[in-house]
Amino acid sequence: MNTRFADIEILSYNVAGFDALPVKQKELIYYLSEAALCGRDILFDQHGELNLLLRRTLEAIFLHYQGDRDTKAFQALHTYLRRVWFSSGIHHHYGMEKMPIDCTPQDFNKMLRNTPLQVLPIYGSQTIENLYQQLYPYVFIPEVAAKQVNQKDGEDLVLTSACNYYGNGVDQQVASCYYSRMKAGQDECPSYGLNSILRRGKNNEFYEAVYKVDGLYSPAIYRIIYWLEHAKNVAENQKQEEVISLLIKYYQTGDLKVFDQYSIAWVNDTDSYVDFINGFIETYGDPLGIKASWESLVNFKDKEATKRTETISQYAQWFEDHSPVNPDYKKDNVQGVSAKVITAAILSGDLYPHTAIGINLPNANWIRSKHGSKSVTLANITKAYHDASKGNGFLKEYVIDDDMLSAIETYGSITDDLHTDLHECVGHGSGKLLPGVSEDALKAHGATIEEARADLFALYFMSDKKMVELGLLPTDDAYKPAYYTYLMNGLMTQLVRIQLGAIIEESHMRNRQLIAKWVYEKGREQNVVELVKKEGKTYVQVNDYLALRELFGELLALVQHIKSRGDYGAARELVENYGVQVDTDIHKEVIDRYAALNIAPYKGFVNPKYTAVCSKEGVIQDVIVSYDEQYDEQMLRYSQQYGFLNDGYGSLLREEK
Ligand code: ZN
Repeated sequence: MNTRFADIEILSYNVAGFDALPVKQKELIYYLSEAALCGRDILFDQHGELNLLLRRTLEAIFLHYQGDRDTKAFQALHTYLRRVWFSSGIHHHYGMEKMPIDCTPQDFNKMLRNTPLQVLPIYGSQTIENLYQQLYPYVFIPEVAAKQVNQKDGEDLVLTSACNYYGNGVDQQVASCYYSRMKAGQDECPSYGLNSILRRGKNNEFYEAVYKVDGLYSPAIYRIIYWLEHAKNVAENQKQEEVISLLIKYYQTGDLKVFDQYSIAWVNDTDSYVDFINGFIETYGDPLGIKASWESLVNFKDKEATKRTETISQYAQWFEDHSPVNPDYKKDNVQGVSAKVITAAILSGDLYPHTAIGINLPNANWIRSKHGSKSVTLANITKAYHDASKGNGFLKEYVIDDDMLSAIETYGSITDDLHTDLHECVGHGSGKLLPGVSEDALKAHGATIEEARADLFALYFMSDKKMVELGLLPTDDAYKPAYYTYLMNGLMTQLVRIQLGAIIEESHMRNRQLIAKWVYEKGREQNVVELVKKEGKTYVQVNDYLALRELFGELLALVQHIKSRGDYGAARELVENYGVQVDTDIHKEVIDRYAALNIAPYKGFVNPKYTAVCSKEGVIQDVIVSYDEQYDEQMLRYSQQYGFLNDGYGSLLREEK
């Protein structure tokens, strides 16, 4: 039975092929997995400065509360703790809003006081009252830390976001100026600000507290390095050894130039069978898109499926040449779009328990255009999602008729994978900026526009005859269910993820609605796409697939135009007009229909557990993978085994200087 709570269902994923790996590769995966888990606490602190203190308190109550556990209040605390684990903090992982706890402050206080003092995070002269006073506003007052990442236009995004990337006295203006000054006039500069908190010092000067050994998060980073050293010793080849060495050096120094060297070495290592991500990578969690959250993924190649992505990569230049964008924005030479299908072995940080299914790195544009990028599709994760969704009634409820339903059943899985591959392998890597245009000219709307670009690239080419010619799709109209489900999702079903009355904040969701709404409205006169009513229920109906493809192409040209020119005003208009506002009637209907299905809108994963089998001398002889750990058990074990940071780490260090 899968664990379910709030709007979440926890799945497990199978690491197919692990047992058959040579022992040395198992050993490498084992060390890299340990390095992955050692960074878990970092993300909690990045998401909000009291998250670690709160997590420890909740865990202490959950494990050691002496009162009646059969009460509504204790159940509420349990659910809340599960949600805090899932989000690595107090905010919803998708909506970014503060999550409610379903008990009163009095209930919470009572449970806290019925928990033995020695297991609570209380130190020195602190009292239980101090702890309560610290946590009470963070948990119970809606206005305090209301949003983890606020994207609302016109507000100070730094001051109104609860994420822990900017210290007291730093607002949006200060932060933007600080970093644009650093970057000014440099084309190939490091990603300034990526691995630090920007703070105001005693004398009103601004400085960065850097994540590194002897800097911020040092105890966790120290442990990560410890395991990376082990991994280095069993690296598959010299290139991989170099990659790991550079990563260690980066963690030791915090030097972003070393991070760039590491990224380049990592892109160039395409031979290794085992690969990994470990570091401060994605910037979605910072409203200004400057600072990166910590994440890790360890994986190995799925050889059979990789043939598909290799085909796409081989034709990267063909895609570029045939894309419907202005030739001025095309690359003459699309470089090194390497892509592979992988089997995930461990997820951590910002990829755990909820995870991406496709990843394309590095993020620095100049490295991508000069050295290429690596793209991966997490096949065993996609498979776990598919398996979980079989027969849950979702498609039957929202898809217009049986013909489309059976087309989706036949081709849905193939086109889903192909969409991800096209998006990651050629979509993100396509196109170029005009000279002098800054990578982050589109600011807060940059992520949405970039995702739209990659999705449109995939959608446009999905229906190209070339797909069948290359053996990527079995028939000429296999793409149709992909078009259909994209619009169904963008216009309707993705709305189950947000609350009635809310606007869309997350950039992937914004991108999907932007695309779906834009083609819907532009194609209205020719009746390309319709919303039809049958027995009081709304359905998407596609009347003209060829015209729909033309519209995807038209929008791709527009989005590339905006990106290449760094036209912030146009980006903002497009995103605000199509990607943000929600049609209330549709939203309500979609939610009501969904409620009747009793499906959890979000899924996450427990990791497998790796156990090293050692000889008397301590030499690893085998690594055993097991899948029997449950969600609560795994989270509690991780907190115990990998809890390297002090409670309220960020706030403690804020006091320092
Ligand atoms: Zn993407």
